[in-house]
Amino acid sequence: MKGTQLWLGRICTTMNEFELIAQYFTRPARAGGSLRLGVGDDCALLDVPAGETLAISTDMLVEGRHFFEGSDPEALGHKALAVNLSDLAAMGAQPLGFSLALALPAADAGWLAGFARGLFGLADAHGAQLIGGDTTRGPLNICITVYGSLPADAALRRNAAQLGDEIWVSGTLGDARLALEALQGKRLLDRTLLRPASARLHRPEPRVGLGLALRGIAHAAIDVSDGLMGDLGHILECSRVGAVIDADALPCGEALCTQEAALRREFALNGGDDYELCFTAAPDQADAVQAAAQAAGVRVTRVGRIINGSGLQITDGDGQLLPISAHSFDHFN
Ligand code: ADP
Ligand code: MG
Repeated sequence: MKGTQLWLGRICTTMNEFELIAQYFTRPARAGGSLRLGVGDDCALLDVPAGETLAISTDMLVEGRHFFEGSDPEALGHKALAVNLSDLAAMGAQPLGFSLALALPAADAGWLAGFARGLFGLADAHGAQLIGGDTTRGPLNICITVYGSLPADAALRRNAAQLGDEIWVSGTLGDARLALEALQGKRLLDRTLLRPASARLHRPEPRVGLGLALRGIAHAAIDVSDGLMGDLGHILECSRVGAVIDADALPCGEALCTQEAALRREFALNGGDDYELCFTAAPDQADAVQAAAQAAGVRVTRVGRIINGSGLQITDGDGQLLPISAHSFDHFN
């Protein structure tokens, strides 16, 4: 893409693809970091700490599907990276860097500046450097690949849940879904509640520190992006075990806590866009789990346990089985 139109206020100038990359997405490599060579050559060169393995994950955000048209670019920059860092967190990996493939309908200077602010704000908070990418004209589409590292045997894999493990969830669940439905006009929500709930939807905080602190303590982990029931379901399938969850023990978000009980259960179990960690650990690790959470500055809640068999049973606080099924988000269903 050459000669991209650039709008500065109402004045249209042209900026080519390379000027755009140089202005918004090129920063000097951090001294002493793992990045040997960043943006500007045919490939980036990234060092992996001795004895460790690369952890790699990609997530794409498409306008109209993952975010509303006209969304705040700063929040988009944050969220596009946050959902990727969340995958590194769920593996227990240390972020190293990320690449950014961007399709833009136009090179709007205000949009690019806001997007870069949100992106680098979160990147800097986690020591992740932008190592390269691709830029093209097209319908707005943001695709990030993150690179992290970890000792291979420390990975918190989905297939590692053990019989008798306790199931934990970080932070709170359900507010992102509540905010989404309020913004879509499907539900009324007081402004004072909509604000914090919208922050959960638009600016999720990936639990990177917790994932690192859980190495050697947790068995299996996953990040909750499509709803707890569906995502925990992946751990159960991969580990060939079942689980029972107490719906009344789930940590509801601040806004969701003010809603009626049925909605609290539904959105905590099947909300989506939470970006919390769900993980399992042996019961004798409960104190270590709490200490790891405290060190990472995140609260964790014990919500159930791994049992023999398959599938997920949901009970109320009295242990009575509830007829709730998973309807995890699926783009093709
Ligand atoms: P190539 O033609 O070899 O794919 P490009 O012209 O696409 O190279 O990109 C030039 C350089 O700019 C490369 O180092 C590439 O990684 C980097 N780059 C392109 N787009 C982005 C972006 N959106 N963010 C960061 N780096 C980018
Ligand atoms: Mg390219």
